[in-house]
This record gives sequence, C-alpha cells and structure tokens, in this order.
Amino acid sequence: MKTTKEDCKFMGEAIRLANESVRHGGGPFGAVIVKDGKIIAGSSNSVTIDNDPTAHAEVNAIREACRKLGTFDLTGCRIYTSCEPCPMCLGAIYWSHIERIYYGNTRKDARDIDFADDFIYEELDKSLDERTVPIIPMMRDEALETFRLWREKTDKIEY
Ligand SMILES: [Zn+2]
Repeated sequence: MKTTKEDCKFMGEAIRLANESVRHGGGPFGAVIVKDGKIIAGSSNSVTIDNDPTAHAEVNAIREACRKLGTFDLTGCRIYTSCEPCPMCLGAIYWSHIERIYYGNTRKDARDIDFADDFIYEELDKSLDERTVPIIPMMRDEALETFRLWREKTDKIEY
C-alpha cells in the first residue's frame, strides 16, 4: 500500500514524540492516532515514568483518543507508530477497531536494541505447553457460568 506526503507528516510526528520520549526518560516509541486527516491523539512510551508495563505509545494513544472522543470504538481512525506494534498493542489496535497501521521501525529493529517484541511474537507461535511463562487451565466450568450470564443478558453493550 502506498504512503502519501500526509502519511509522512503523521509518521514524522510519531517519530518526533519517540525522540522527545528518549530525551525525557521514556521508552523510544511514539504514536499518533488520526481521524478525518487530523491528529486526535499523540503519545509516547511511559512505562518507566508511570511504572506501568502496559503504557506503550500505542496503548497510551488509544486511551487518549478514546477519552477525547468519548468512545471505546476508534472505527475510522488510523495509527502511525514509530515502531511495528508489539502483540499487546496490536491486540489493543484490533480491539479498538482502528482501521490501518503505519509503522517505522520493525520488531527486528526493536530486538536489536533489546526489546522483547519479537520474542513475544515467537511465543505466540508456540503451543501452550512450550511457552516460557506457564499457562495453566483450571475451573473452566465455574468460569463458563459468567459467559452464560453474559449470553443471557439482554441489555449488554457489545464491543
Ligand atoms: Zn506495545
């Protein structure tokens, strides 16, 4: 898919936020979310600043965009991120219904400066019993009761 001059402007802003983050003690990542040709949210990685391992640039930008728009649904939005999203951020992007992702650095570039993005992608390809972090099924019947309640709830907000 071709990128435009406008795309370069938005990615330039994501990279600018990433550079600024490095200078101010955050991780080397930035992201902006765009709707109707306008930046509605721009953020950088604040894991070490906020003591929050989920505070990646993309997640921070999604939270900001949703807060500003007053919705959990970012249909019609695009994200420009200075690095290919990690599996957590990719999941958050899918959950938010963002429609297109542009990225700068690759996950291999991130691995080369000791970030785990690529390692976590490799974990996803393994079967559950081969993963580094043990993942153990239990009490499924009791847990399924919640899903039964959800299925039968008539006034739920689906997402
Ligand atoms: Zn991430």
